[in-house]
Amino acid sequence: SDFEDFYLKRELLMGIFEAGFEKPSPIQEEAIPVALAGKDILARAKNGTGKTAAFVIPALQQVNPMLPHVQAVILVPTRELALQTSQVCKTLSKHMGLEIMVTTGGTTLKDDILRLQEPVHMIVATPGRLLDLAQKEIADLKKCKTFIMDEADKLLSKEFTIVVEQLLAMCAPERQVMLFSATFPMIVKDFRDRNMRDAHEINL
Ligand code: AMP
Repeated sequence: SDFEDFYLKRELLMGIFEAGFEKPSPIQEEAIPVALAGKDILARAKNGTGKTAAFVIPALQQVNPMLPHVQAVILVPTRELALQTSQVCKTLSKHMGLEIMVTTGGTTLKDDILRLQEPVHMIVATPGRLLDLAQKEIADLKKCKTFIMDEADKLLSKEFTIVVEQLLAMCAPERQVMLFSATFPMIVKDFRDRNMRDAHEINL
């Protein structure tokens, strides 16, 4: 298949082609249509498969640039991965006019407070920092309807599962969950059973 087959917004398609992507990778081919249909996704995916774009493309397609609130959240376990992932979001959305924010621990809250006084459409974050912002009512997740976790096996340690579930509870009740993980340990399966509905499983 081709990226054209997904009926993406023209501005998004331009970003995809300018990034040099010609054809969807296998995980993109499977994940993108399912995600665009609104279904929850549980995907086993290694680095290098194109997994980042597999969740970033549907997330971008589903964000409305005219609505000035956080509509999608991407949680990752480390600052480095947050920076990398937000860069993919920015590259692919170059022509969409979206405000994408990255926030992680180890930086000052002051900058985030200033940033969130202006509209933000999408946040890439580590869980602890985002929970801090949400609990202090600096970030408002009530209208967030796309909730993504990358490297979920690293994200969902015992302590962090509680943090992630608190964040999920702050999002819109009809939110879509997409979980990407290199492995599916018990803690990931338990998370799925508690928080995901009829998840489409991808094992490539
Ligand atoms: P990831 O697995 O998300 O870390 O992506 C691995 C690499 O593949 C990155 O450098 C991406 O820019 C690249 N990539 C992702 N999707 C495609 C695609 N459809 N065509 C060509 N390159 C891609």
